[in-house]
Amino acid sequence: MSNDNFDHVRIDGARLWQSLAGMARIGATERGGVCRLALTDLDRQSRDLFVDWARAAGCDVRVDRIGNVFARRAGRDDRLAPVLTGSHGDTQPTGGRFDGIYGVLGGLEVLRTLDDHGIRTDRPLEVALWTNEEGSRFAPAMIGSAVFTGASTLDYGLSRQDADGLSLGDELARIGYAGDEAPGHPLHAAFELHIEQGPILEAAGHTIGVVTGAQGQRWYEITVTGVDSHAGTTPMEVRRDALVGLAELVLFVNRLGHAGAPQARATVGRVEVGPNSRNVIPGHAWLTVEFRHPDEAMLEEMDAALRAEVARIAAAAGLQSRLEAIFRYAPVPFDPACVAAVRKAATGLGYSRQDIVSGAGHDACHLARRVPTAMIFVPCIGGLSHNEAEDITPAWAEAGANVLLRVMLAAASVERNGSAA
Ligand SMILES: [Zn+2]
Repeated sequence: MSNDNFDHVRIDGARLWQSLAGMARIGATERGGVCRLALTDLDRQSRDLFVDWARAAGCDVRVDRIGNVFARRAGRDDRLAPVLTGSHGDTQPTGGRFDGIYGVLGGLEVLRTLDDHGIRTDRPLEVALWTNEEGSRFAPAMIGSAVFTGASTLDYGLSRQDADGLSLGDELARIGYAGDEAPGHPLHAAFELHIEQGPILEAAGHTIGVVTGAQGQRWYEITVTGVDSHAGTTPMEVRRDALVGLAELVLFVNRLGHAGAPQARATVGRVEVGPNSRNVIPGHAWLTVEFRHPDEAMLEEMDAALRAEVARIAAAAGLQSRLEAIFRYAPVPFDPACVAAVRKAATGLGYSRQDIVSGAGHDACHLARRVPTAMIFVPCIGGLSHNEAEDITPAWAEAGANVLLRVMLAAASVERNGSAA
């Protein structure tokens, strides 16, 4: 099929929009959002609807032991590893109608479109619905894709508990989605279609975000220790005020973020001060620092700058300091060839586009560590997500799915001139 040209083929935007609206009725909230927590009865209903639609589109549906659902459309050579797309069907308690499910139904729309046009791809195509992406009911987030890629074990995933002590494994069985497939079948490539969940694309007036990767993170906790003393009797020059040290650090962290713009993020999100009394000079201060950046080398630089500044501030003010690095998550670069395919598809379709880094975690971040992977973003209104008012336009929904159609067609074709992939 690599010699065929399917550039004229487009998805059916009205059908996609109708499917999104139909799915949004499951767990619909009064304020126009969706509450569909993982492995609840509502999650089961949305899974059932997806399975019905996938079977009606001629797909074979399989479920793995962590409850990931795979709708598979046969290829010319079914022994070849499939090209996969998909996302998640669960939401936050006050979630929106598009986060996650847009990528699932966008994938389904691609398969329906291929049926409309009688197109058979060389490789099989699959649409995945990943289990418990949000991490709202069962922590951590992205469990289904973590188990699929081996980042977490199956036992770990199944033993996660919700706030009522119910286990993920028992709840999967209860809703009828404890499948028997071993998680982790081979894939040729993966593409995830998702709303941006931030304000960048809309502000720039771009329809497609070509996602080049996801940010890495570093988390710190810093304790600053001075001396508690009387606010009236202690002269200014002999004070060892931990809160003043903390304040300097907060401003430094913020400056570091601005200095690394547009890609860096630097946040102090929590502070504590003691004794927290209006007429005592604070001898104790504690703060959290969080850095994000798509480039590991830049995270390393921010780390070094933070350590140096903590030491400098403490020495200058006669304070003691302790810095603990408590968490790190390496940046996820997406596959350059997959990213280039998204860029090419957007350009070929005449959509305005820009490269963008994902600020949020996605199932694609797990997949990218094992399979050539990229993501496609479309804007969302006001950058709003994890919010009942989350919204996109039908035109954006259609554009993203058209890009997905093109990249999946390209990835699923096999060169027949002796270099079978
Ligand atoms: Zn999502």
